[in-house]
Amino acid sequence: MSTKQKFGAGIWHFATYVDRYATDGYGPPRSLIEMIDLAGQVNDLTVVDINYPFSDPTLTLDEVEAALKRNKLSVIGITPEIYNRQFAKGAFTNPDPGVRKLANELINKAADVVRRFGASYVKLWPGQDGWDYPFQVDHQELWKASVDGVGQLASENPDLKFVIEYKPREPRVHMSYDGVARTLLGIEKIGLPNVGILLDFGHALYGGESPADAAQLAIDYGRLFGMDVNDNFRSWDDDLIAGSVHPIELFEFFYTLRKNNWEGVWQLDQFPFRENAVAAANSAIDFLKQVERGLDKLDFEAMRAAQKKHDAVTALKLAQEALYSSH
Ligand code: FE
Ligand code: FE
Repeated sequence: MSTKQKFGAGIWHFATYVDRYATDGYGPPRSLIEMIDLAGQVNDLTVVDINYPFSDPTLTLDEVEAALKRNKLSVIGITPEIYNRQFAKGAFTNPDPGVRKLANELINKAADVVRRFGASYVKLWPGQDGWDYPFQVDHQELWKASVDGVGQLASENPDLKFVIEYKPREPRVHMSYDGVARTLLGIEKIGLPNVGILLDFGHALYGGESPADAAQLAIDYGRLFGMDVNDNFRSWDDDLIAGSVHPIELFEFFYTLRKNNWEGVWQLDQFPFRENAVAAANSAIDFLKQVERGLDKLDFEAMRAAQKKHDAVTALKLAQEALYSSH
């Protein structure tokens, strides 16, 4: 058996949501403290990723720390909110240099929170950096600004790690960091050791990638710093419960991580709009434990031999038997 796998979640898993239809929200707003208390009710959750600034601006770091402590949770990452209204035209790529400066300052403040909580990284999700229309932007300038903005942060904070979570689209129609290869190109251009990728399984899926292949590429370039899982129907970032739609591809993704001895937290990035948040997290973690047992059962040597011959039938049989007989 492998050592006990650690599980985590973005704290937004325990929020309530607004979309462009239910503008009154799918539930009454929850404070960060309430979200942390819900996260604490999930079985086997040990770390969370927290958005910054906190949803309640009056909340102090000490109060957040106390809530985490009583729920036996620690912080893996801080996600600065570089994607809300003031950054509607981008954070790193905003046409207004004053707004770009604001983004840099906000992320630097988030970096201090990472230090305060002893977290692993600052998570950059540049959801507004991109474009919506043909001819809207100069693509050369936009990409340069995307790379320069992250590079500046990494050189200002050499003691910390920055992870870029790429995604094809939403809220921008096309995001600048849209896929694994482009993100790696940007990171290679920056050329600093403290910038990596946080690979979101669902983003890879709906971007037309194989999540296993994307993970292998990021690992081969030494840049897979984090990951999160969920599921979707491949045309949108549905953020459904992990394992609910694409179990076999999820298994191949985790097979790839284990094959490479990649050790890190298995994090949930789910949006349970209509589900009980604690139940949705438990459901995912139960499935992820089955995945873990499946990996323990899988005959890696036989899999390697089948792959050497590109023998799809044998490889799938090995994977299916290991995963589906591991209750
Ligand atoms: Fe994610
Ligand atoms: Fe997402």
